[in-house]
Amino acid sequence: MINPSVQIRKIESYDLSAVEEAVQSFLSQLKGAKLSRNKRVLIKTNALGAFAPQRAVTTHPIVLEAIIRYFLERGKEVWLGDSPGGTVSFNTVWQTCEYAELAERYPIKVVNLSTLGFRELSYRGIKLKLSEALWQCGIVINAAKYKTHSLMAFTGALKNLYGLVPGMVKSEYHRDNPDTKSFSDLLIALFALTRHRVTYSFIDGIVGMDGAGPSSGNPRPFGLFLGSTSIPALDTVAARMLGFGISDVPYLSEALHLEGILPSRIKVPTSFTHYRIPQADISVVKLRKETLKYVPSVLRYAFKKLYFYHPQVSERCLRCGICVKSCPVKAITWAEKERPFVNREQCIKCMCCHEMCPHNAIDIHKSLLAKAVLR
Ligand code: SF4
Ligand code: SF4
Repeated sequence: MINPSVQIRKIESYDLSAVEEAVQSFLSQLKGAKLSRNKRVLIKTNALGAFAPQRAVTTHPIVLEAIIRYFLERGKEVWLGDSPGGTVSFNTVWQTCEYAELAERYPIKVVNLSTLGFRELSYRGIKLKLSEALWQCGIVINAAKYKTHSLMAFTGALKNLYGLVPGMVKSEYHRDNPDTKSFSDLLIALFALTRHRVTYSFIDGIVGMDGAGPSSGNPRPFGLFLGSTSIPALDTVAARMLGFGISDVPYLSEALHLEGILPSRIKVPTSFTHYRIPQADISVVKLRKETLKYVPSVLRYAFKKLYFYHPQVSERCLRCGICVKSCPVKAITWAEKERPFVNREQCIKCMCCHEMCPHNAIDIHKSLLAKAVLR
C-alpha cells in the first residue's frame, strides 16, 4: 500500500505567475533522476474539440503556458498534443482553444496524437490502440480539466488519458463499449497500460464545469488547481470535492486498487481535508446504477420502462452536422434544412454527440421518473 499525496492550490483566476508558482511547487515533489535523464516532454492537454477557453471544456492555455515554461527553462524539448474527438480539423481545434498562439510564442512542437502512429496493447483481453507519442517522450505530463461527465459522472486525470487513443478509433471504442460498465473497463485497461509512463498529472479547476459536462455544462469558478503523481489519488480527491462518492465514478475504485491505494491514506493539505465546492450541480450526471439497487427485482422491468434519458437536439442547433458524424452507431439522421434527429431505438447513450456539439445544442431529455430521481 502506498500513501500518495495530492497538491492543491486555491487560484481564483488565470494569472500566469500564480499558476507558474503552483506548477513549480507541485513538480518539486518529483524525483530528480526521472526529470534529468529524459530530454523530451509530452504535455497531454484536454483538447476535446473546438471550444474557446471561457467555455471551460478544454485545459486553459495559461495552465499549459506555465507547464511549458517550467520545462523549457530546464532545457527540455516540449511537445504539446492531444487527439481531439469528432470531425473538426486539428488546426481549427488548436486555434479555437488558443493553443496555436502558444506554439507561436514558444519553441514547442504541436503534435496531433491521431497521426503519429500507434501501438496496440492488451490488458485483460481488452485491446487498445495508443499513440506512439507515449513512447517517444520520456516525461509525460497529463494536463486535465475539472468537469462533470454525462457518461462517467466525473472527468479528471484518468479520463484525460483517453485522448491517447488516436482520432476516430475513440468512436469505435464507444460503439463497442456502449454501457457504463464496459466503457469503465476500457478506461481501467487504458490506465493499467499507461500509468507507468505518466510522470505527473494536473487538473485545471480554476474554472471548471458542473451540470451536464463534459461540454454542455456550466463553467464554474471552482478556483482550484490540483496535481499529483498518482492519477487515482488525484481523481479521488477532485471527485469528492465536487460531491461524488467513490462509487459514483465507475472506474475509481478499481484504479485505486490497481495502485494499492486506500482512499483514507491519500494526503492533502490540511486546509482541504473536508473541502467541498459550494453548490456544485452534479445531479444530472450522478450515476443511475445506484438507483436500480433499491428497486425490488420484480419491479425492475417496469422501472426501466419509466426511467429513461436520451440526447435530444434542441432549437439552439446551428445545423453544423458535427453530432451526425460523431455518432458511432449512426443513430442521428439529418434531412436537409432540418435539425438532426436522434433515433432512440438505435442510440446507445454514449453521449458522444452531447460531448462534441460545439454549440451546446443537445439536451439530455429525461422521463418524469428520471427527473424525480435525479432532481
Ligand atoms: S446539435 Fe450541435 S453538433 Fe448537431 S448539428 Fe446542431 S449544432 Fe451541430
Ligand atoms: S445519438 Fe448520441 S448518445 Fe446516442 S449513440 Fe449517437 S452519439 Fe451516442
